Amino acid sequence: MGLVVQKYGGSSVADAEGIKRVAKRIVDAKKNGHQVVVVVSAMGDTTDELIDLAEQVSPIPAGREFDMLLTAGERIAMALLAMAIKNLGHEAQSFTGSQAGVITDSVHNKARIIDVTPGRIRTALDEGNIAIVAGFQGVSQDKKDITTLGRGGSDTTAVALAAALDAEVCEIYTDVDGVFTADPRVVKKAQKIDWISFEDMLELAASGSKVLLHRCVEYARRYNIPIHVRSSFSGLRGTWVSNEPQGDQQVEHAIISGVAHDVSEAKVTVVGVPDKPGEAAAIFRSIADAEINIDMVVQNVSAASTGLTDISFTLPKTEGRKAIDALEKSKATIGFDSLRYDDQIGKISLVGAGMKTNPGVTASFFEALSDAGVNIELISTSEIRISVVTRADDVNEAVRAVHSAFGLDSDSDEAVVYGGTGR
Ligand code: ADP
Ligand code: ASP
Ligand code: MG
Repeated sequence: MGLVVQKYGGSSVADAEGIKRVAKRIVDAKKNGHQVVVVVSAMGDTTDELIDLAEQVSPIPAGREFDMLLTAGERIAMALLAMAIKNLGHEAQSFTGSQAGVITDSVHNKARIIDVTPGRIRTALDEGNIAIVAGFQGVSQDKKDITTLGRGGSDTTAVALAAALDAEVCEIYTDVDGVFTADPRVVKKAQKIDWISFEDMLELAASGSKVLLHRCVEYARRYNIPIHVRSSFSGLRGTWVSNEPQGDQQVEHAIISGVAHDVSEAKVTVVGVPDKPGEAAAIFRSIADAEINIDMVVQNVSAASTGLTDISFTLPKTEGRKAIDALEKSKATIGFDSLRYDDQIGKISLVGAGMKTNPGVTASFFEALSDAGVNIELISTSEIRISVVTRADDVNEAVRAVHSAFGLDSDSDEAVVYGGTGR
């Protein structure tokens, strides 16, 4: 029996009852002979509530203080969980990210883990404790400031600890029974996937399937840590994410793994850009210098009469303000006319490694959208993914249409969502 890392998301520890239920499950793993490290998220929607509070006192809160505030959510959950475990007669100790040795760079609100030195966790385990670690946080290597890893970052904490401690598996406990062919909140007929490759899971996560965070899957692939995504509410086996299926893990030889959607992005259009070399470079340099990651980029054909063109790109809504400010600052040097900002967009993506070798997938995807009356604004593709941007209002309908068109609807059970508010 080896070491397991278990991560419990906010919906699994939403209230005292949830914490007690999770504590029992953790104790069971310990009783089965495992050494157990638990990573816990903030209770329910605590992080959102803390963000709302910060925005009430300051429209753009300072990064350092914002991180200090947000990490409080996970601290509450970790201490309560340790108490609940002790109440069941087992030893547990809680640790902040910093105490657990999660070392990051110093980019507040979206820090990257650069090292994990879990000496205190090892000691706690060796002394017979269950170690509880606050997810989503670390300490910066140079300034020794408290940092957070970006929304959903507890998944990354869990995999990083699993890698550093050489765990046999990283279990991600959430409010659905695993990874489905689409978000079960949107598609009732979505099917649970038994096994999925890191490659396809990476694309789903990058395209908005928030059941696993993209960085967490990247990390797991780099260190070859198998992930088991499952529900903390049911005892069911969930979805295995790994390089190769093991034992009786079923591989459906589907061309398509699933449909992802994302309504967390916005679109910026730079209007009236002179159509000459260096303009796109200048625009995206100013965005990069503001440490903003962008997603899709489209440049329109320039009107012959004016020699001007428009460039649109998408980015997380949370970065919208920063991007507009950065571009406004370089307006004179770049020489564009104006900026347009649109946060009523949504993105739908079809993912599957089988796309590489199956012609017609793109055509069927667009036909499904057209049959559903959905207008397409931007398109981007990779070898194993097609994504389109549409109006946000059309997203749910579009996801259902594409899911059906590719034969992914189950004809039996309806996907269960056990908790959470979907916020
Ligand atoms: P946690 O609080 O456990 O971290 P999250 O809300 O971050 O939970 O992730 C779980 C949610 O992810 C589910 O409730 C579901 O709505 C959503 N989700 C999106 N895409 C998928 C998918 N393909 N499979 C399963 N869940 C998905
Ligand atoms: N509590 C953080 C969030 O809501 C981190 C996490 O849940 O993974 O984003
Ligand atoms: Mg999550």
